[in-house]
Amino acid sequence: MPAEVLADETWAGGCLCGRVRYRCRTKPRNAGYCHCRICQRNAGAPVIACAYVGLEDFAYTAGEPTVYQSTEQGERRFCPTCGTPLEYRERGGDFVSVNVATLDRPEEVKPAFHIWTASRIPWFDTRDDLPRHPGPHPEF
Ligand SMILES: [Zn+2]
Ligand SMILES: [Zn+2]
Repeated sequence: MPAEVLADETWAGGCLCGRVRYRCRTKPRNAGYCHCRICQRNAGAPVIACAYVGLEDFAYTAGEPTVYQSTEQGERRFCPTCGTPLEYRERGGDFVSVNVATLDRPEEVKPAFHIWTASRIPWFDTRDDLPRHPGPHPEF
């Protein structure tokens, strides 16, 4: 089997109901936990895990996600049927930030840092020694 086909299958993902599916041509990188209020409300969860993939390496393979403009530059895509939040990107940007838990194999994309811990919900924490940043990641 060609390596590219294998990679496509490995880094595929989708929503709860299966209507919207996507694939990443490369392994999502720079995975981390985001504690920002927008992610919290968007996911209805205390934190999300997200990871970056180049825009040119990301594509929807089934269904059409709904686009929600969450900030002046930010766009979030979700399934119009089941509501699963799938990814975040910035207008004119060159990457997509995939919600790791929507990958078919989320166990292989491990978060390596925390960002926006200034808005971490006090009753929620994770037991790890990963770097913690009160705001955005200083490098990306
Ligand atoms: Zn769905
Ligand atoms: Zn966030």
